[in-house]
Amino acid sequence: MDNREKQLPIMEAFYTIQGEGKYMGTPSYFIRLAACDVGCPFCDVKESWEIEENQWQSINHILSKIPINVHTVVVTGGEPLMHHLDELCKALAKRNIRAHIETSGSFQPSGNWDWFTLSPKKRKLPLEKSWKLANELKVVISRTNDFKFAQESAKKVTENCLLYLQPEWDRKEQVMPLIVEFVKKNPQWKISIQTHKYMDIP
Ligand code: SF4
Repeated sequence: MDNREKQLPIMEAFYTIQGEGKYMGTPSYFIRLAACDVGCPFCDVKESWEIEENQWQSINHILSKIPINVHTVVVTGGEPLMHHLDELCKALAKRNIRAHIETSGSFQPSGNWDWFTLSPKKRKLPLEKSWKLANELKVVISRTNDFKFAQESAKKVTENCLLYLQPEWDRKEQVMPLIVEFVKKNPQWKISIQTHKYMDIP
């Protein structure tokens, strides 16, 4: 947890369409928090790993930038749970905005979430309590042994948790046929693709 009370480091914030998972297609305001020390080789936001001094913003300021018609905020990173998020969630709830998070689950959970997307990473596994909080489990598939990781991960979430396999964007041509065959054999899983990249939006 950071010692700057009621401030969070914002890498970027923007209003777009959620491209992945159950809420794919939903207009959503994304808040990307800086800092991550998980170090995934396939990370497509490596610039989020470090915090720059000028990124710190008060929660009031962050909220003031959210357009009036926004119903859903997605907090992502970086690894958003490297920060204490109770105050941000309280402020969103006050404005009747749904609070979603996308996390590796490898840090102590904070905040009160309407939707908790857990994307476990082999390099730094989720904490026990994060598995139980997940509303959807999203496992990135880069190579064949990731299917085993996905199946092991699915044993740790609750029975209502939605299960998604998502191809690593740069490997999608190679792995998509494997994912399709896997999901046909294991229909408790669904495929999530990064539709925002096809729509050419952030
Ligand atoms: Fe990148 Fe997310 Fe992995 Fe962090 S957890 S290195 S932000 S993909």
